[in-house]
Amino acid sequence: MSDWSTEKLHADYAQSLRVDRLLYDSETDHQRLRVFENPTFGRVLTLDDVVQTTEGDNAIYHEMLTHVPILAHGAAQRVCIVGGGDGGMAREVLKHAGVTHVTMVEIDAGVVEFSRQYLPALSQGAFDDPRLDLVIADGADFMRNTPGGYDVIIVDSTDPVGPGEVLFTDTFYGHAKRALAPDGILVTQNGVPFLQPDELSNTMRAFTALFADATCYLATIPTYAGGPMAFGWGSDSDARATPLDVLQGRFQAAGLDPFYYTPEVHKAAFALPGYVRRLLR
Ligand code: SAM
Repeated sequence: MSDWSTEKLHADYAQSLRVDRLLYDSETDHQRLRVFENPTFGRVLTLDDVVQTTEGDNAIYHEMLTHVPILAHGAAQRVCIVGGGDGGMAREVLKHAGVTHVTMVEIDAGVVEFSRQYLPALSQGAFDDPRLDLVIADGADFMRNTPGGYDVIIVDSTDPVGPGEVLFTDTFYGHAKRALAPDGILVTQNGVPFLQPDELSNTMRAFTALFADATCYLATIPTYAGGPMAFGWGSDSDARATPLDVLQGRFQAAGLDPFYYTPEVHKAAFALPGYVRRLLR
C-alpha cells in the first residue's frame, strides 16, 4: 500500500508504519532516503526503507549508546561517533560538559543535510556545537588511519548490509580498539538478537578476542521491532563494574534529564536473558 512504509529487513517478518505525510523521498549517492510523518512516532527517517530513527523513540537508542559508556567511563573527553548522520547521537554526547571533542564520521553527507532540514528535533543544534568535528568519510577508512586516543567510540551504523557492512568486520573492530585510549570503551549497535542472532554473535566473537571485557547490553526500542536491541560493549577497563552509587553521583553531576536512561536502567541493561547470553559464547 502506498501510504505505508514497509521494512522488510528479515525474510519472514516485516513492520509497517503509516505514512501520514511524505516530506522527502530521494536517492542519495549511497542509499534511498525518505522522511515522513507518522501520528505516533512523529517524523521518521528511513534508509533503503529501513527505519533509522524516529522523533518519538530515538531518545531510548541515543541515550543508551551515549550515557552508558560516558558515565561508566567517568572522565570521557574525546568521543568518536561512527555513522550517526541524523545528529541524535551527537546531541546526547554533547550534553556531557566534560566532553571536549567529538569526531563524527558519517559516510553520507545527504543524511546529515536532510536530517538538519527535516529532523531538526534529532540534532537540536548539535551540528553547530564548536566541539563537534564532522568528517564525511567511510568510518572503516577513518578508523584505519586515525591517530585515535578516544575515550569512547560509538558505532551508530546501519545494519550490516550496504555501506554499513564494513562496520561489522573484525578488521574494523581491531582498528577501533587501536583507536581507543587505554581505558576506552567501544559500543556498537548490534541489531535485535531475536531476529539477527548472527549479527550479535559475530561481533561478540570479535570483541572477546580483542577486549578484556566483552559483552552486550539491551534496550527495547519500539521501531526496532522484534524484542530488545543489543549494544556491543568492549573495553580493557573495569568500567562496566562501576557501582550504582558512583553512577548515580555522576548522573546527578552531569545534570541530565533523560527520557529513558537512569543509573538503575544502566546497571540492569547488562542483565542478559538466556537466549542472548548463549550468543556471547
Ligand atoms: N540507529 C539506526 C539503526 O540501527 O537503524 C542507524 C542510525 S543511522 C544514523 C546510521 C548511519 O550510519 C547512516 O547515516 C549511514 O549513512 C551511516 N553509515 C553507514 N555505513 C557507514 C560507514 N561505512 N561509515 C560511516 N557511516 C556509515
